[in-house]
Order: sequence, then C-alpha cells, then structure tokens
Amino acid sequence: MEADSKPKKSGARLCCVCNQNRAALKRPKTLEQVLSSTSPSVWECFYAVFEEEIHQVILENQLFKPGERIAIGASGGKDSTVLAYVLSELNRRHNYGLDLFLLSVDEGITGYRDDSLETVKRNELQYGLPLKIVSYKDLYGWTMDEIVKMIGLKNNCTFCGVFRRQALDRGAALLKVDKVATGHNADDIAETVLLNILRGDIASFNSEFINIRFSLWLMLGCQNLNKFSTYAYFKKLDYFSTECIYSPNAYRGFAREFIKDLERIRPRAILDIIKSGEDFRISTATKMPEQGTCERCGYISSQKWCKACVLLERLNRGLPKLGIGRNQGLNSDGKKDGKRDSRTPSTESKQCGSLEF
Ligand code: SF4
Repeated sequence: MEADSKPKKSGARLCCVCNQNRAALKRPKTLEQVLSSTSPSVWECFYAVFEEEIHQVILENQLFKPGERIAIGASGGKDSTVLAYVLSELNRRHNYGLDLFLLSVDEGITGYRDDSLETVKRNELQYGLPLKIVSYKDLYGWTMDEIVKMIGLKNNCTFCGVFRRQALDRGAALLKVDKVATGHNADDIAETVLLNILRGDIASFNSEFINIRFSLWLMLGCQNLNKFSTYAYFKKLDYFSTECIYSPNAYRGFAREFIKDLERIRPRAILDIIKSGEDFRISTATKMPEQGTCERCGYISSQKWCKACVLLERLNRGLPKLGIGRNQGLNSDGKKDGKRDSRTPSTESKQCGSLEF
C-alpha cells in the first residue's frame, strides 16, 4: 500500500479535498477547513483549491470578458509570478479567451531591477506570454540610480512610486490592453488601505481607475491571503526575492509592523482592514478632484500638470526637493487646494514597500 493511502490514526484531521492525507493547512478564509498534506508530493490538493478559488472569484465578479487583452504587472517577485502563472493556466484550462501579456517597469536600479527583470524574461518563455518592458530612462530620461545620486535616499520612493504608476499605465496603453491585473497578498492590501487613510488619500478610494485595480487586488489577493508564498514555493515557480537596494525607512514599514501587532492580538485584523477599504464610501457632499489631462504630457491629472511632470521638471531644474509636498511646485499657481492627482496614488514598491505594481 502507498504511504499516502494508509489509513490515518483516528482523530487525525484529514485533507478536506482528498480525504486521505493528514491536513497541514487551515484555510484562513473560513477558519474551519484544513487542506493538503504534510507530504510535499501531495500538495496537489492545495494547488487545486488555490487555483479553483481564483477561478471562482474571476467568474463570480466577471473580472474578464472573452477577447479582452490583459496585462499582468510582472516584477519578477513572488506575487506577480504566481498571478502570471495561475492566470495563464486558468486561461488555457477554462478557455477564458484572454490575450495575456507581461508588463514590467524598469526603474533603472542596478543590482536590483536588472536582476529581477531577468526572472521576468525567463517567465516570458516559461509561460509563453509576450513581455513588454517600459523604462524610466525612456519615459522620463532618468533612472532611479541617477535620481538617487541627485536627491539621496530621503524621498526617492516618492519619485519612484509616481513614475512607476504612470509607467505602468503608459505600458498598458502601448499594449492596448483592456485591464491590468496585479498580484498582491492580503498584507500588502491591508497596508495600502491603512496608508491611504493615514495619508488622507481619499482619492485612491474613489477613483474609478483605482477601483478597478483595487478590486482586482482585493479579489485575487484577499481571497488567497498569504497562500501566494506557499504556492510559489512548492510549485517551484521562478521568482526573485531580493529587496530594492534603495528600500528605505519607509512609512509603510511602520504600517506593516502595526498591522502585524494587531494580527497577533486579533488574527482577523488583516481581513477586517481590507473589508473596511472595500466598504469605504465617500460622502456625496465631499468635493473630489476633477479629472482632466496634464497640459504637458496629456496624462490623466486633476491639476494643470500631472505629478510625474511636476517631479520631472524639478529634477531637470536641479531642484528636486521643491517638487515634494502638496501645495508646492508648478501646480500651486491658480490651484491652492493641494488636491493630488486622483489617478496617481502614493505608491511605493513592495519593499518600501507598497504594492508590487
Ligand atoms: Fe523604487 Fe521601491 Fe526601490 Fe523605493 S524601494 S526606490 S519605490 S523600487
């Protein structure tokens, strides 16, 4: 008799999928089911449940339509690699009829992004998904290495986050995709919800664009909590896990520790924070920024110049510090409300660490 099919001692919890092997994982979503086996050879039960949950979320929320072009934000990191792998598998298995692409942003960080992009290039071949890389150097004329050389490590992630968001959108436009899918785990999403509140960044909760992206985060991330790590590890996916060499001090790091402390006291805290973000509604009496286009580059902006153009102008004039802050810079003439570009959230990278994309 095979080891995996031996009868188990009475009282041992069995995997709820195969009903054969001793369970090793508890589903955080329901707090009742236990999945998979202690033997790595039978992690198939875990893979099946993980993939099926994502499939159900996609169906129930009608995330995609046949014929759509979807860019998968690919950093080479664990979460985006899992998303690329699982989406391409489901697309094949269930005939979604999607045209999938990998979309990467090259910030120009030697010793970090150049290495992680090598991983994405391998993923391109492994998963058969066409890859588009957009670089800060091509889009803005600056690499992050050059920016850090000029401004140091204090506000580097502000520049990087603003540029990345726009670079991702520009890459999506070049690929002519209908949607961008990004992979995140629940911790990332909870941190972002908390940070948006701490920054008073209600635009991120309200913007339709962000909501599309956000709901993808929630649906793909929340439903799967931190199973991305387990899945990526046991599936032996090819991913990159080194931190950015400019990873700072980060405000997000404090939010992360705070959430982890909360989770120790109340395990559901992460899910509850995400639920709060999902249910967040802005009073109709609240005046929100009006979306227009940047006079300089044509990108969506609620001000005269988009945030990327403001930061870029300051860099080019050798005055980068003046570009930081809500009421400073070129948009302050005539618009003193300090509203931020509703389509440019305060994003940092995962390491500093925000959403990977
Ligand atoms: Fe950019 Fe992230 Fe590195 Fe900051 S930590 S410089 S946001 S990649």
